[in-house]
Amino acid sequence: MADTQNTTNADPTAAAPASTAPRLDVLLLGAPGSGKGTLAALLVKELGIPHVATGDLFRENLKANTELGRLAKSYMDQGQLVPDDVTARMVADRMSRSDVARGFILDGFPRTLPQASALGDILAGLGRRVLAVFHMRISDEVIIARLGARLICRQCQTPYNLVTMRPRKEGICDKCGGELYQRDDDKPETVGARLKVYHTQTAPLIEHYTRAGLVHEVAADGPLDAMVRQVLDTLRSLPR
Ligand SMILES: [Zn+2]
Repeated sequence: MADTQNTTNADPTAAAPASTAPRLDVLLLGAPGSGKGTLAALLVKELGIPHVATGDLFRENLKANTELGRLAKSYMDQGQLVPDDVTARMVADRMSRSDVARGFILDGFPRTLPQASALGDILAGLGRRVLAVFHMRISDEVIIARLGARLICRQCQTPYNLVTMRPRKEGICDKCGGELYQRDDDKPETVGARLKVYHTQTAPLIEHYTRAGLVHEVAADGPLDAMVRQVLDTLRSLPR
């Protein structure tokens, strides 16, 4: 009973998602530490379409205790990866909501070729297609340096950055005098290993979307406003 979904709450005054409406079905591909989330947040403001991140979808489904959330949890509880089809169903479910009628910025999906083909099917079923794929280009060295500059206070969790927000006294928290440390996740060897996985997974995806003529490279080590401008200019120039 609890699973019964109310699908009859469409707002009759909402703009009809006419087939002539320009749709911005956009993918963001970028390594951890590439600044994808920051860019996405700015694009949401500029374009008025939602940022759909798979991390958020998982959290929402778990929190709302949906059938998909419970299914995902059953894998996570056993320390297993959530299978592609479960993630794909969460994405499909998200794509059925009215706020993506004009487009979306999808982040975290697809990660693999089978996921890309699942996404193609989901969109085709809705009469839509991927309009553009923005690939955040940034060297591993810059990411490792960026994440490696982060420190956190062991006592009060205040974040510091050795480049942009140095503590007054080296290794000591300004606020509470606690010891600053580097999270394991930010250590060069850990970041390096994550980047390796990312590149291995992503290379075939980039190739796949490049063949389809959809990939646009974004220089992700430059100023943020230049990145935003580049994405907006690219989207404006695309035939839809
Ligand atoms: Zn502190």
